[in-house]
Amino acid sequence: MMLAQKRVQMVRQLEIEGIRDKNVLAAMEKIPRHEFVPEGMINEAYLNIPLPVGYEQTISQPYTIAFMLEALELKKGQKVLEVGTASGYNASLISEIVGKKGKVYTLEIIPALAKFAKENIRKQGIKNVKVVESDGSLGYKNAGPYDRIIITAGAPEIPPPLTKQLKKGGIIVAPIGPLYSQNMIKATKTREGMKRKDLGAFVFVPLKGKYGHG
Ligand code: SAH
Repeated sequence: MMLAQKRVQMVRQLEIEGIRDKNVLAAMEKIPRHEFVPEGMINEAYLNIPLPVGYEQTISQPYTIAFMLEALELKKGQKVLEVGTASGYNASLISEIVGKKGKVYTLEIIPALAKFAKENIRKQGIKNVKVVESDGSLGYKNAGPYDRIIITAGAPEIPPPLTKQLKKGGIIVAPIGPLYSQNMIKATKTREGMKRKDLGAFVFVPLKGKYGHG
């Protein structure tokens, strides 16, 4: 089967599994996931599984990504911060959803992966994503505050700098918990503080750095 056809099938499956946000589904139908995985894995790119990208890191499972992006309630023109770039696939999806007037900042702690992601994103002709090689648990103050923040590695708690760099009314989606056992937390910044909602159990690679697991 052609890769484009497999991609359409993957998106149909996500719909069956409960993903409703049309913008998320459309972005996943457009962005070619197979161009973000290592060459030997192109044929597995549209299976609903995470795939290794080297350095013990993964490109997340399509369902997990769709679930998180739907929870983020993304809108055109928003400024979004992602912590954990890896392949750059998720950052590219966000770029597509927020559109040309939106902007994505994505932080990656492993230099070789930051380079891999930059290359992948450049090849797509995407211009509104900036990849920064840094400890994302500290956020990226220079470009803040953000409308939305997404953490794509498991964190012991929401890193305080990220809460600070979120706009009032903004949303953070992040897997929170001990090593290899997280709950997806959606937190909205209100006048009374962070209002948290638990969206269920997921497993992620650990967040490193100052406010990560070390
Ligand atoms: N969003 C990615 C998948 C992320 S996997 C995609 O679309 O492919 C988690 C990534 O978080 C890994 O690449 C890991 O190196 C990175 N990471 C872990 N701790 C980090 C930190 N403190 N700052 C930035 N990146 C971090």
